[in-house]
Amino acid sequence: MPTYEYEAHDPETGCAHCRQPFEVTQRIADPPLTACPACGKPVRKIISLPAIGASASGFDDHAKKKGFHKLKRLGKGEYEVKY
Ligand SMILES: [Zn+2]
Repeated sequence: MPTYEYEAHDPETGCAHCRQPFEVTQRIADPPLTACPACGKPVRKIISLPAIGASASGFDDHAKKKGFHKLKRLGKGEYEVKY
């Protein structure tokens, strides 16, 4: 399952959990997290690579540029990166 990074909208009011960026493992079909699981304050997703929704070929090109040699398709939208 992919891992997404979130951070508090306002780190000043966040708790110890969301004051720093934190990772959440979610299924692709799951809706994005909108509140900190610890304190309930609003959080936003930090966009990191690869962008969800990118085509498989785009993902592949992106990975190759990063030095990955092979991507094994595990299932719908999930890839295992082979070095
Ligand atoms: Zn929090």
